[in-house]
Amino acid sequence: MAIVELKNLVKEFPGGVRAVDGIDLATEEGEYLVLLGPSGCGKTTLLRMIAGLEEPTSGDVLIDGHVVTGLPPRARQIAMVFQSYALYPHKTVYANIVFPLRAAKMPKDERDRKAQWAASLLGIAHLLGRKPRQLSGGERQRVALARALVRQPKVFLLDEPLSNLDAKLRASARDELKRFQDEVDTTTVYVTHDQVEAMGLGDRIAVLSEGRLRQVGPPMQVYDDPADTFVATFIGSPPMNLVPREDVLVGFRPEHLLPAGDRVPDGWVTVKLAVDRVEYLSGDRHVWGTAQGLGEPTRVVSRLPAIVDAPVTVGEEQRFVVAGPRFRFFSAS
Ligand code: ADP
Ligand code: MG
Repeated sequence: MAIVELKNLVKEFPGGVRAVDGIDLATEEGEYLVLLGPSGCGKTTLLRMIAGLEEPTSGDVLIDGHVVTGLPPRARQIAMVFQSYALYPHKTVYANIVFPLRAAKMPKDERDRKAQWAASLLGIAHLLGRKPRQLSGGERQRVALARALVRQPKVFLLDEPLSNLDAKLRASARDELKRFQDEVDTTTVYVTHDQVEAMGLGDRIAVLSEGRLRQVGPPMQVYDDPADTFVATFIGSPPMNLVPREDVLVGFRPEHLLPAGDRVPDGWVTVKLAVDRVEYLSGDRHVWGTAQGLGEPTRVVSRLPAIVDAPVTVGEEQRFVVAGPRFRFFSAS
């Protein structure tokens, strides 16, 4: 059964901004669904409507098969972790974690048991006496997660929970979040604008733009078969190359454009690349240039593992090949 189901959900703010513009989407039980899209595309608004913090203009939110549109947040069995973590600065970690349980009038010994369980699951049992300001960013995030976890919600809603962490911490926090999800197995809707995070965490990715759903699918499917040019260029780094040809755009990933060897495999296409820039990034070489021979001359990028020993020289025109079987075609309109 779908745990969260959105039916033709619309949110229009005063002034006519359609932050969410008719979204149909359902999570599967235990799924990690990532909502991915650029800043301002409506991700937070969508999450707030699931949580009950924002009323939809029209459409419905269902949780566990029941319409919850109009019900207050506490009646929804969801827990939301905000970008800012929203911890109470003057309360200890322990008091922060049990806060929702006190509010629900749970007896003290049961509260203690739940807090200990959540804290040890998240590796913060030794921090229960501290105040938030005595914690690192990653520890604060774990406290916010523990506070969400103690309520044993049907759904976790996470709004860019890693965005306050520095790059190094983000990678390890992402790893922790994934292990945490595997262990807890609660349906999670995770919002991010970062496609790397989305690819790494999501069982499925839902790509949003301007309040609309562009594509939903497992990460590799969204990467290999983007539904449109928005998805094709939003996901992948560097983004998919798009070359205009007659009335279509030919799309291919940078890793499918390679220096030509002695032999061109069947179905591959030779192009001439006027190389204008080479960058080294994370063990890859990104080779930029203008390609001729596929369609209109177009600036494209090739991504080569830096260890591949193929000389590429800025300012020269070189023969490259493109994996024809990996072409994707998009309408040019
Ligand atoms: P995201 O989380 O993807 O960055 P948001 O859901 O925060 O996007 O915002 C989507 C759009 O709705 C933006 O154009 C934003 O300015 C607008 N918006 C969000 N909240 C409000 C509000 N309370 N009043 C008016 N406009 C809003
Ligand atoms: Mg947001």
